[in-house]
Amino acid sequence: MPKTTKSNIPHLLGYTCTICHRHYPYEQEMLTCPDCGETGILDIDYDYDVIRKNISRDSLKDDHDNSMWRYKALMPLEDRDYGTFLRVGWTPLYRSLRLGDELGLKMLYLKDDGLNPTASLKDRASGVAVAKALELGYDTISCSSTGNAASSCAGNAARTGLKTVIFVPERAPQGKLAQMLIFGARVVSVIGDYRETFNLSKEAIAKYGWYNRNAGINPVMAEGKKTVSLEIAEQLDFKPTDWVAVSVGDGCTIAGVYLGFRDLYELGMIDQIPKILGVQSTGCSPFVDAARDNAPLKPTPENTIADSISVGVPRNPVKALRAVSASNGAWIAVSDEAILDAMREMGQKEGVFGEPAGVTSYAGVKQAVADGIIKSNQTVTCICSGSGLKDVVNALKAAGSAIRCRPNLEELEQTDLFR
Ligand SMILES: [Zn+2]
Repeated sequence: MPKTTKSNIPHLLGYTCTICHRHYPYEQEMLTCPDCGETGILDIDYDYDVIRKNISRDSLKDDHDNSMWRYKALMPLEDRDYGTFLRVGWTPLYRSLRLGDELGLKMLYLKDDGLNPTASLKDRASGVAVAKALELGYDTISCSSTGNAASSCAGNAARTGLKTVIFVPERAPQGKLAQMLIFGARVVSVIGDYRETFNLSKEAIAKYGWYNRNAGINPVMAEGKKTVSLEIAEQLDFKPTDWVAVSVGDGCTIAGVYLGFRDLYELGMIDQIPKILGVQSTGCSPFVDAARDNAPLKPTPENTIADSISVGVPRNPVKALRAVSASNGAWIAVSDEAILDAMREMGQKEGVFGEPAGVTSYAGVKQAVADGIIKSNQTVTCICSGSGLKDVVNALKAAGSAIRCRPNLEELEQTDLFR
């Protein structure tokens, strides 16, 4: 249980419920709206006048902290030195050398967030979660996850000495499971799907008083994920691309992507918020279905190789839908075959190795160009949210197999190597 509940954070005004729009002052830890219950996801409200005094384009030019902590003035945290934490963020933004031309785009950039310390964008949320848990005096942090949130939670917590309890569905890939275990987390592999895993974690967290890192409901998580947008903007000299494409599962990452650009817009640091393209697999596309039918989200089966975005019951629908609607973006779904193609193409043609959910964004860009949603005179940033080493089984499906040969040059010449 936490030792303290009151923090002194001058730039934090409080919370607003995304459902009933009631405001709550920032006095203590809050996860969801007391009136609306679990669906009452909260927004965090900032005092941009205070933030403006602490961060600007010029102050960032002189800031040599090459991590997401360079943006701590925009996070819901106390002003502390986070230099001993894992180095999360400031991942490369590569200008595409081939794929953008192939699609006929004016410019394509690839933000490789697989290069974070535990190899996914989720490190951004976990870094902030760990900081918040320590700030509030917890000794244990817990979450349920399809894999990356959990492995990043375990890694970032290990660095600070926080204990970690993780709940994963039994389908979690071995690479992610290995990460959690090597970082010393207590891992519970739940015999069930993600929804059942989430519900068990919720009950356990409530009963044992751990810090709740469940991204769907904890508003702090999207505030970490938004740093990917702050970086994209800064790396493009505060002239972000027309579009930013992101793969969508629970909805928390796309929510964060929007929040980052919105913050910069509110602060006058960018002139326009990019259109956000939310991409799902056709095997699990509750957001795409809801947007197409103009109807509330319906639970859908979880039937895709992109395990990180295989979420049939997203916990953060309001913020995710807002990210696309408020940015005049679009939703799109792509097949698992298209995801495997994207994995191979990004690897072969750009040297970026993403996991299936990581490259789904790029598969979505291809589809959006084909459908005329993204035009050839536009610029696009594609967020690759996790490393392909997380899931080598699917990587090998995408890439094919090695040439087999005895150690004999004549035999080598008879192989496919020379065909
Ligand atoms: Zn409410």
